[in-house]
Amino acid sequence: MSEEPVTVTESPHVTTHELSSAANPAENSPTTPKVTKTSPKPLRRIPVGTRLEDVYPHVPISLDDIDSAFALQEYLQSLIRTDKENLDLLVNVPEGQDADAWQYEHLRQLCLELGYLVVQLLSECTRETCREMKTTEFQYLCATHPKSSCSAMDYIVHTLDQSISSLNDPRLFPSRMSIPATSLKNYQEISRRLYRIFAHAYFHHREIFEAFEIETFLYARFLKLSTRYKLVSKDLIIIPEQTESNGDDGRNRYREENNRPENDSQS
Ligand SMILES: [Zn+2]
Ligand SMILES: [Zn+2]
Repeated sequence: MSEEPVTVTESPHVTTHELSSAANPAENSPTTPKVTKTSPKPLRRIPVGTRLEDVYPHVPISLDDIDSAFALQEYLQSLIRTDKENLDLLVNVPEGQDADAWQYEHLRQLCLELGYLVVQLLSECTRETCREMKTTEFQYLCATHPKSSCSAMDYIVHTLDQSISSLNDPRLFPSRMSIPATSLKNYQEISRRLYRIFAHAYFHHREIFEAFEIETFLYARFLKLSTRYKLVSKDLIIIPEQTESNGDDGRNRYREENNRPENDSQS
């Protein structure tokens, strides 16, 4: 285990009540009669006994209906909850939104969900089993500790931490709505490193990778995003494509977006 746990910063969700109480502490004093304020968008209550799959609506919420500073993030999460297999819908830039800002939200979300893959890997990716970070043959040195050879798990945790720090760095990303052109190169750097985490899992912990992928479609989404926005160069993609022809369940998982010539499909 690493000393540095993966920390994923979720956007703070402050309810209307918390905000109003904080702004006006006198409201809670016993001498002040309670005034029930009606919020324009009441908090949704989940009835006792509701099944998990019924907690969220089965259609994505409309971006216009989200009244939040983190509207784009919430919208993306709603799309994922509703249909994580609809990769085109997920990576397409929502109408009227900025493509760079959309990729930013995707990268944050990928880091968050990769944390769940790391939890699965902990059971078998240890300093004993994977002393070095490898995908196929090359060893990778972690960007945080280029002089020491971090184990695969340390590399993975350090890389996720560093990616999240970069995305949270106000000098690189002062606003989530408008991304400076000079910061876009960070998308490629982050994506290239995140790709290695998927590749390590695929080549060294296949069962965990496959089980996680069936549940989440996370690598399929990552690949779709990376090829759509050219975040990872094609020659770095080493996880074989899964298509109907090689015994997949027919959903064309992790297949690169660019259509290849038909006679190339066996390679
Ligand atoms: Zn490993
Ligand atoms: Zn390291």
